[in-house]
Amino acid sequence: DDNLLKKIIAHAKEYGFVFPSSEIYDGLAAAYDYGQNGVELRNNIKSFWWKAMVQMNENIVGLDASIFMHPTTWKASGHVDAFNDPMIDNKDSKKRYRADVLLEEHIAKIEAKIDKEVDKAAKRFGDAFDKDQYLATNGRVLDYQKQIDDINARMKAALESEKLNDLKALIEELGIADPVSGSKKWTDVRQFNLMFSTELGSLADGASKIYLRPETAQGIFVNFLNVQKTGRMKIPFGIAQIGKAFRNEIIARQFIFRMREFEQMEMQFFVKPGDEMQWYEHWKETRIKWHKILGLGEDNYRFHDHLNLAHYANAACDIEFNFPMGFKELEGIHSRTDFDLKAHEEHSGKKLQFFDPQENKSYVPYVIETSIGLDRMFLAVLTAAYKEETLEDGSERTVLKIPAALAPYKVAVLPLLKKDGLPEKGREIMDSLKFDFNCQYDEKDAIGKRYRRQDAIGTPYCITIDHQTLEDNTVTLRHRDTSEQERIKVSELTGRVSELVSI
Ligand code: ATP
Repeated sequence: DDNLLKKIIAHAKEYGFVFPSSEIYDGLAAAYDYGQNGVELRNNIKSFWWKAMVQMNENIVGLDASIFMHPTTWKASGHVDAFNDPMIDNKDSKKRYRADVLLEEHIAKIEAKIDKEVDKAAKRFGDAFDKDQYLATNGRVLDYQKQIDDINARMKAALESEKLNDLKALIEELGIADPVSGSKKWTDVRQFNLMFSTELGSLADGASKIYLRPETAQGIFVNFLNVQKTGRMKIPFGIAQIGKAFRNEIIARQFIFRMREFEQMEMQFFVKPGDEMQWYEHWKETRIKWHKILGLGEDNYRFHDHLNLAHYANAACDIEFNFPMGFKELEGIHSRTDFDLKAHEEHSGKKLQFFDPQENKSYVPYVIETSIGLDRMFLAVLTAAYKEETLEDGSERTVLKIPAALAPYKVAVLPLLKKDGLPEKGREIMDSLKFDFNCQYDEKDAIGKRYRRQDAIGTPYCITIDHQTLEDNTVTLRHRDTSEQERIKVSELTGRVSELVSI
């Protein structure tokens, strides 16, 4: 729903979550800045991930590696030679596209046709409808499926053999038009490396080419032995890291979903060779549970298994989320074999092995990776949270139903009136809460208006101080999602709020 995406972008800007980068200079395409509420939400997502991955697992520890790494790192990892996207330009509009994405979008259109057929048949047959049987037997559907399989097979063959103009031929054969101009005149397909490079040091003293890391994972691999030895880690164990990554995406669009500078939360889990499939399944299950516990809607997630595996993987899948643009990748789970550690052994001449006391031998461990984009997670939260509602009294509100544990502010402290000692009491309550919770104090405007302001930034609880508070030391605690109010003793606030905002 394009409209929902537009609304989220506008709301995120108006309420200090996300601003276009360098806006006073008319912005920079696909770069964004996180505002006062955005940075809180990001920090809370990071901390929720870190706690689940590091704090809750005795055998996972953290790392914060440098963004700049020795250039050979990227030779070893395959990024210098193979981190490319096939790019194609439209001759009329001069717009640039990823050839594989144009084909994938075409496939999505055929898939939508299948869905339509299924819907029609479901209506026609009612209760007697058997979807699996229909998909396996209906002539029209089978024909669509065959078209999809053909495109996938030819795309895979073209990419693997690096015969990139086979992609162009396929695009022309399918009559795919430039979504902007409608033109079908395409250039040849060229490889485009996604890494940003720059010079290290000044040119005069022999500068060398250096890259901005396109993933955080390699910082973990090159530190594998440092962490294993100093932390006395035993296989299986993991190393987790949160940090920026950079990719010169050919098409960066759809708000913070695809940017050229973004942040990843990655964990590399080192296991005994042969045990990797069991751990791959373990991490698939563990990661989907992490998502579902947040309550963004179980139906908003699905797994997508990779059929075309990257050069380093022997199994891979994505966790997709139902973004306003449809189901798209939010997190990747990859069984990376011993590809990276072996490649670093070869290029560095240093052993990167674990001595297994039980087996009494050394080996290069296999790796399971979980990798989630912080910015995509942020967009997933906003997508599920954004609601326009009509309240019981007929008034309208826009509310962000952000999970309480992630909300930028946990409570707002609101004296009903700006007199009679209510503000002073409010300040006192604020002071007793603000070490434990991020709180906002607001005494301006009518109370209804102040509730709306807190709804719009997703504050789950509002504490209202009234005249009764001065008599019996109780306040009302208003729940964002239900508008319900409970009367509660001031002395019980900290306990009650912590109970409410914990997962
Ligand atoms: P895509 O297919 O969407 O380009 P990818 O498969 O290249 O993504 P990975 O290399 O698996 O992505 O990266 C792990 C995670 O990092 C992704 O699941 C995604 O959440 C995030 N990510 C990757 N590229 C970007 C980007 N350009 N902007 C924001 N987040 C990104």
